Amino acid sequence: MINVYSGPIKLIKWLNLFKSRSYCSSVSAKKWSKTVFIPASDLPSRKAPKSEVDLLEKPCFYNLYRDQNGRPSDKLFVLHDGPPYANGSLHFGHVINKTLKDIICRYKIRQGYKVNFIPGWDCHGLPIELKVYKEKGQSIPTDPLEIRQKARKFAQSAIDEQIKVFRRMGIAADWDNPYTTFSNEFVLNQLQAFKTLYQKGLIHRSFLPIYFSPSNKTTLAESELEYNTNHTSPSIFFQFKVNHNLTLRTNHDIYALIWTTTPWTLPANQAIAFSPKIEYIIVFASELSRYFIIAKENLLDLQSKLGTPLSVERTICNEELSKLSYSHPMRLDSKQYLPFLSAEYVTSSKGTGLVHCAPNHGREDFDIAKKNGLSINNCIVDDNGNFVSGLHSELDGKSVLEGGSSLVMNLLKDEIVHKEDFVHSYPYDWRSGKPVIIKTSQQWFIDVGKVRDKCLSQLKTVNFFPSGIQNKICDEISTRPPWCISRQRVWGVPIPVFYRKEDVNKSIPIVSSESIDYLINKVKENGIEIWWSSPESELIPDQVCKSFGVNKEEIVAGRDIFDVWFDSGMTWNSVLAGDKIADIYLEGVDQCHGWFQTSLILSIALRDLAPYKSVYVHGFAVDGDGRKMSKSVGNVIDPLPLIESKYGSDVMRLFVARYGSHHGNVKVDDEKLKTTMTLMLKFRNIFKFCLGSLRGFDSPGKLDYSKLNLINKYMLHQLWSFNQSCQKNYNDNDFRNIITESVSFIDDFSSFYLKIVKDSLYCDPLDSIGRSSCQSVIYYFLETFNNFLSPIIPFLFEEINIIRKKDNKAASCLLDGWFECPSIWKNDQVSLIMGIIRLIKESIDNETEDNKHFGKPFTATIICHRKSDYETLKTSESSSDNLEQQLSEILQLSQVKLSQSIDLESVEADIKISCEESIPFTILLNKTNKSSCPRCRRYLSRLPNDLCHRCDAVISKHN
Ligand SMILES: [Zn+2]
Repeated sequence: MINVYSGPIKLIKWLNLFKSRSYCSSVSAKKWSKTVFIPASDLPSRKAPKSEVDLLEKPCFYNLYRDQNGRPSDKLFVLHDGPPYANGSLHFGHVINKTLKDIICRYKIRQGYKVNFIPGWDCHGLPIELKVYKEKGQSIPTDPLEIRQKARKFAQSAIDEQIKVFRRMGIAADWDNPYTTFSNEFVLNQLQAFKTLYQKGLIHRSFLPIYFSPSNKTTLAESELEYNTNHTSPSIFFQFKVNHNLTLRTNHDIYALIWTTTPWTLPANQAIAFSPKIEYIIVFASELSRYFIIAKENLLDLQSKLGTPLSVERTICNEELSKLSYSHPMRLDSKQYLPFLSAEYVTSSKGTGLVHCAPNHGREDFDIAKKNGLSINNCIVDDNGNFVSGLHSELDGKSVLEGGSSLVMNLLKDEIVHKEDFVHSYPYDWRSGKPVIIKTSQQWFIDVGKVRDKCLSQLKTVNFFPSGIQNKICDEISTRPPWCISRQRVWGVPIPVFYRKEDVNKSIPIVSSESIDYLINKVKENGIEIWWSSPESELIPDQVCKSFGVNKEEIVAGRDIFDVWFDSGMTWNSVLAGDKIADIYLEGVDQCHGWFQTSLILSIALRDLAPYKSVYVHGFAVDGDGRKMSKSVGNVIDPLPLIESKYGSDVMRLFVARYGSHHGNVKVDDEKLKTTMTLMLKFRNIFKFCLGSLRGFDSPGKLDYSKLNLINKYMLHQLWSFNQSCQKNYNDNDFRNIITESVSFIDDFSSFYLKIVKDSLYCDPLDSIGRSSCQSVIYYFLETFNNFLSPIIPFLFEEINIIRKKDNKAASCLLDGWFECPSIWKNDQVSLIMGIIRLIKESIDNETEDNKHFGKPFTATIICHRKSDYETLKTSESSSDNLEQQLSEILQLSQVKLSQSIDLESVEADIKISCEESIPFTILLNKTNKSSCPRCRRYLSRLPNDLCHRCDAVISKHN
């Protein structure tokens, strides 16, 4: 008896080749059933998500990061992990983010790179501090040390939980040595950075207008804002009485008309700004018996808005305007007149062309006031977001956002010319979901202007995915105001400065390189908590106090902490020592105005280098209808149960590769997840078939390419092309295309190639060249897909690797190195020939659709009408088998004759197929007089129930 594969004959359902052929099914043929080599493999057709956990404990996962890092290689690839916030459980966005990172890193490991992927966490900040205050059953702590201790514990437990999930997803990062922004090492780096920036003159304490969140009582960075496009503000047209000596037709008063949507800022008005580029006029409102100064362009709009005719009295030139002054209705007693100021930023696109200027509540207002020497030191809003006392008895201590505008409008109602509601986009605090204001306060700033040009020139050398975001980030950097880095909270890194106790506004800092070095040494020994636990006298050396002419007893430590964006903007420093630059930063689209910018600014400011060579942006996870996931809408999809029990990590990773690498928002719904699971099964089953076919086959060894027949050469050419295309897709980080091309390759591989070669695989002698050639191609197919799919679905590929190597403790298949398709596989001639043959095959298959069984009972005569096509086909004669023999196998016919010309009229055919298109040919099909071989089912036997010549030889040899 011949050596046959053991085990039950299993049919793999989805593959057409299994469906289309039933070997040895007839009674007379059953005796041959044990002589065909049906593939069988140890890879199960399905696997429960829980079984992935076993793999995670094996060296292929558990040791991968360490193993790859220990390899002798001088190729290094650094992915710098943007730190997620150490606050609660992970959401779908984290799954997208870390999976994309892991795919890139695994691909690089497969290519032989040592990969540096150190995960990190952003651990400080308000959301964690607020969690401490909201702890159930606890009294609200006020002691900074207690708050910090609880916040640290909370952040650490969130990190531990998140690591578990990331490990479960199969992410190969340095989980044993993550960076955390609350570690002492990180804090010391940050103090050092402050010193350097201060020495370089890039950091300063200033009184400037910045965003302030009354709801959270802290300053905010632009990146912490969310714009509500449906915010409703009161919109008012307001008049200020002008002090003038202009000659007019009547002696009515003149008013400057301004427009504002923040009436609460009117008490802070210091000037009216006009544009040097706009033409202004004085108009008479007869129904109101007064004159208004407005921009000429706004005349018609204002007439309709105010509902009153406005007749033009005269124009008023810029010079005249600049000499005018006006009185403020809340300061009539002081007889103080306020100025008109020329300002480039003023436009007439909305309002009146004259702009109300409240220097403490607008960046441009502040600049123009400062330039013109106006008072900028008194802010009318305190650090709770309330009016300070002394403005008006009715405003004292009242919230500016909650009712402030109404109170002011009521007080100044006589000066309001028109009032309506106005819906517009307005900044909100993303944490509290409440509106913010702009107000001046003493804060620490990084002078972005001083590093702006360097940032912009370095950005031009960075590779962006997608390329469009480069301009977006450049535009934002171009206009980015000074960056306020101080926050008035407890849970963060302290800004290491002191003030005189008497300096109530803390406007003159006591700080020097020496004082920071002194503190750094203290913190090295005792940790950063000493900032809160030790008296000031122990935190600053005597000589520094002396140099500032102050006694130690007279100073107080600053209570500001760093903005968390400063923390995260410094993370490159913990993984990119010296002049190292990360190969890639990869984060969600929100980081375009967040982390990508802060990291760049700090890296340029500290070492004149961008921190990254390339930047990749992915979209947000949204629900199936494209809506943002939110608890209040109830559409949040928790990824954890999907990973742990429903789909498993490979399916989720495949989902991310399919839908998450196109930079747009990622719609997550059941249907997409289900189709991804179906695709995963498809992958599993093709590889299962391949493993079965390779049983007993070690490797192709020194495959003699020249001896391969047409179809095998063709498939190697296809693999070569696929390899080229996938490498390009990986270089473009386009994983969606990898999946699309993989699916289409696998479809063709199974429905075309395997369907044809299965006869050889199943029925040829075990050691025949034909059979081992097919096995070689299947082997290379597996190796090629190992290159490209194992980074995406590592659980399946590690499982395959363990089966192939019969080693439960095998190291990761990524460490076997890159499989390079030999260039000899590129064969355009073979591709051309197979192009013609596939066209012929398609025509025959269409006509003989009813004959679904493997061997079609036809002989064919193929007539090429064009000499060149005939000759092209004939060039493949040099292969091991003659062309007609190969054609009968590829076309799955009993016999094929190839002809250049024939008198079509003189021959009869059961089926006649003509093609007049780009490759004109005629095919004559006739029922064969041969019988079906009971072993291989091909129509090659001379008599019914006789074995065909090949099968007869196989059986005789082994008997
Ligand atoms: Zn046979």
